[in-house]
Amino acid sequence: MTEEYLPLLEVGKTIRIDITSYTHEGLGVGKINGINNKEEKLENFPFFIFGVMLNERCLVKITKMTKTFGYAEVEKIYYETTNPNRVIPMCESYPKCGGCNIMHMAYSGQKTFKQEMIKSTLEKLGGLTDLVYHPLIGADNPTLYRNKVQVPVNSVFNKTRLGFYERDSHNIVSLTKCYIQSELSTALVIFVKNIFTELGVMGYNEKYDEGILKHILIRKNHDESEFMVIPVVKNLSFLNKDFTDKLISKIINKFKMVKTIVLNVNPKKGNTILGDEQKIIYGKGYITDKLCGLLFNISAKSFYQVNHEQTEKLYNRALELANLTKDDILIDAYCGIGTIGLIASKKVKEVYGVEIINDAVINAKENAKLNNIVNAKFVCNTSEDQIQKWLDEGIKPSIIVVDPPRKGCDETLLDSIINSKIKKVLYISCNPATLARDLRILVDHDYQITDVQGVDLFPQTSHVETVCLLTNQAGNNK
Ligand code: SAH
Repeated sequence: MTEEYLPLLEVGKTIRIDITSYTHEGLGVGKINGINNKEEKLENFPFFIFGVMLNERCLVKITKMTKTFGYAEVEKIYYETTNPNRVIPMCESYPKCGGCNIMHMAYSGQKTFKQEMIKSTLEKLGGLTDLVYHPLIGADNPTLYRNKVQVPVNSVFNKTRLGFYERDSHNIVSLTKCYIQSELSTALVIFVKNIFTELGVMGYNEKYDEGILKHILIRKNHDESEFMVIPVVKNLSFLNKDFTDKLISKIINKFKMVKTIVLNVNPKKGNTILGDEQKIIYGKGYITDKLCGLLFNISAKSFYQVNHEQTEKLYNRALELANLTKDDILIDAYCGIGTIGLIASKKVKEVYGVEIINDAVINAKENAKLNNIVNAKFVCNTSEDQIQKWLDEGIKPSIIVVDPPRKGCDETLLDSIINSKIKKVLYISCNPATLARDLRILVDHDYQITDVQGVDLFPQTSHVETVCLLTNQAGNNK
């Protein structure tokens, strides 16, 4: 009997591997038997590899080893195994830039990846089988879609640079062109950085905690009639009237669609982009967009979905699944500027929205007025506190929409839903992993999942939105 040849699995070694699945981030996964540098046998040891696709046979170089998995970089893909959905990425920066991570897949392949990722996550992490999955709603145009751009700025050897971070690092890939944000936003963000440099305000250096300009954010409405510029600075030590006047006049002379400029101050180190303090130096501090036929004011700190076309599809589909009636009392938890609740308001009796960011709640209240909506009320609080409070006050919701951030719902909130037996839960999630965890809890307490609908709001990246409708047959209807 011949003994099986086992390759040595250590950093720097090149191995041959077949790609058999994907991670949530779209990295290819290949498993291999080998030995580690202590001569221990590793069986079915998984490697995660960027830029490779299902069924491809590759030569990869190991870049990182842990006890249970490793990372590797692709060196060669065997031609005859090339996945038919592979395309040449349209962006030259793609191999390095951390902004996109599945641009090597044709858009049809991206949709399949996302649909399957939602299903496998709900099955593996939530133990949820036999669900009804509607076909994922894809984008008609999977490029130039982002209405918000947040670009890091840094300085190296006293030279200010602007661009997205490289994958898994804080080195910057200089921004010249970006295929997922509006072209005007790219031109504007580069222009703003150049003005700061011209006026003598340096980019921030993370390593030495020196310099001023940390990020530039741009937000725009759908028809590009209104833009907001938000330079994020470490402090306001550089600020005087001369600077402000020059900054404003240079920007609005060239970009007439800039309606407001807000300086945001973030003195802290770390990954959070926006700080608490802000100073509106030009305009009203918000822009207005039209979404699903309603007008919405959006301030610098308020959340607003980044893909207009797909957000309309998401909200319309979610509300269609909810099958609302004039008897419904709807809670919009994690409501942001009130989008979902206000869009639903025509169809229901009353809307109660709750959101933790005060500026967003101010927007939500203005937005109700702006659209002559009188049956919607908004409160600034955490959803977990406020919903129990409303229930204690005797409000009897028939449906709750939860649209939490990536970390999902607080368990107290799920407890309130379960104990009060709210008839329908419409869960809108940007993270299938926390969705799976939360759905499991609801399903274990009398809720049935009736529909799962993926919507692609983030083409070229592995992110996806998922809408889930749950009903409690024994639930309160009124
Ligand atoms: N439904 C909105 C916003 C969804 S994003 C829309 O579609 O536009 C999630 C929102 O939850 C953000 O606005 C965030 O500020 C808010 N948030 C985060 N944690 C919260 C909490 N514990 N309670 C209430 N709101 C919260």
